[in-house]
Amino acid sequence: MERDWAEVFYYLCKPIRKNMNNSIIDLLEKDDFSKDDLVRLLQAEGEDKLMLFRKSAEVKEKYIGKKVWLRGLIEFSNICGKDCMYCGIRKSNKKLERYNCTDDEILTAAKYAYENRYASLALQSGELESDSFTNRIESLLHKIKEISNSELGITLSVGEQKPEVYKKWYDAGAHRYLLRIETSNPDLYSKIHPNNKKHDFRRRLDCLQSLQDIGYQVGTGVMIGLPFQTTEDLANDLIFMRDFDIDMVGMGPYIEHVDTPLIKYAGQLLPLKDRFEMTLKMIALLRIMMKDINMVASTAQQTIDPEGREKSVQIGANIIMPNITPGKYRDDYSLYANKPGSDNIYDDSVSNLEARLAMIDTEIVYGAWGDTAHYEKRRKA
Ligand code: SAM
Ligand code: SF4
Repeated sequence: MERDWAEVFYYLCKPIRKNMNNSIIDLLEKDDFSKDDLVRLLQAEGEDKLMLFRKSAEVKEKYIGKKVWLRGLIEFSNICGKDCMYCGIRKSNKKLERYNCTDDEILTAAKYAYENRYASLALQSGELESDSFTNRIESLLHKIKEISNSELGITLSVGEQKPEVYKKWYDAGAHRYLLRIETSNPDLYSKIHPNNKKHDFRRRLDCLQSLQDIGYQVGTGVMIGLPFQTTEDLANDLIFMRDFDIDMVGMGPYIEHVDTPLIKYAGQLLPLKDRFEMTLKMIALLRIMMKDINMVASTAQQTIDPEGREKSVQIGANIIMPNITPGKYRDDYSLYANKPGSDNIYDDSVSNLEARLAMIDTEIVYGAWGDTAHYEKRRKA
């Protein structure tokens, strides 16, 4: 009897379901989305979500191909002058052993990337603004170019700096810069940062603008699943990235860290699995909106799901950043809980990556920077 009712209900609802699916199909026919469309698509579940992922995978295949490019990631120092309330290496976390790789260690890692034909490096660290930091990065950039016959492309991700510092590094050979806006909502930004001059939303925006003016390929991104964040915030984040005309994106789930002030909101967060799924939807939507930009499959996705990077690649991401930081430091670049460290259960060697990517019919492009058609178009324009 119960089953009969279920069947009747199923058939009665059929026209409604058909309409819903139709409107998702109509939405996915569009090339650009309104904020309401984005909110709707971010809430997609079941068959609608699968349709979204199928569409973004098609766009990726058409504009990028079933390929990924590599950026060897060197997290060269966890010394930071800032106190972002979500980050495990914030200045006030005294439980952490601080480290700063030597130049030799950084150059050895760079050489490894060069010899293994990664073609690009990403240098990341805590944020310091000082002459000695500026000069050190400048000299490292020259040395990396020297040991790699100027062939290694270099992405920097070392936070907010003065325009003249960005220019100095650009002239020394860095040509990509990753600075996440974290959230495009100034109110939310002020809830997850201390309220002082060092953590100013306006300055973050100004930095992104000066990076673009100087000529860098500019990457930004947001954390997904932050306390107080709404689906509307995420829709606005996508619109921000489109309107800023970014060249690259690195976005990933927010993962709480026990030694940070935001841990007090841990009980209010979406389950990790939902933050992971929401991140996939953000990647898929941005791929449809910005067809030819570079999109990173983040380590935070892999932290939640061992196949997180592959799943991100399948629906839109095209950049993987294997960690090549010297092993002895990895445990101390602990941005969030369970970030892969020295006991790395994830084998980041190229042979392992190749095998994992082959399972999703994707190949690694060696020996090529993988700069985007998007950047070329923007530069010419
Ligand atoms: N200090 C530079 C900066 O802030 O731009 C670069 C290094 S910072 C560690 C790189 C990124 O880590 C940040 O932009 C932030 O999005 C991310 N991050 C920090 N804490 C995180 C957390 N708890 N969960 C997820 N991502 C986090
Ligand atoms: Fe420092 Fe970057 Fe962490 Fe903020 S996110 S505390 S700037 S390392």
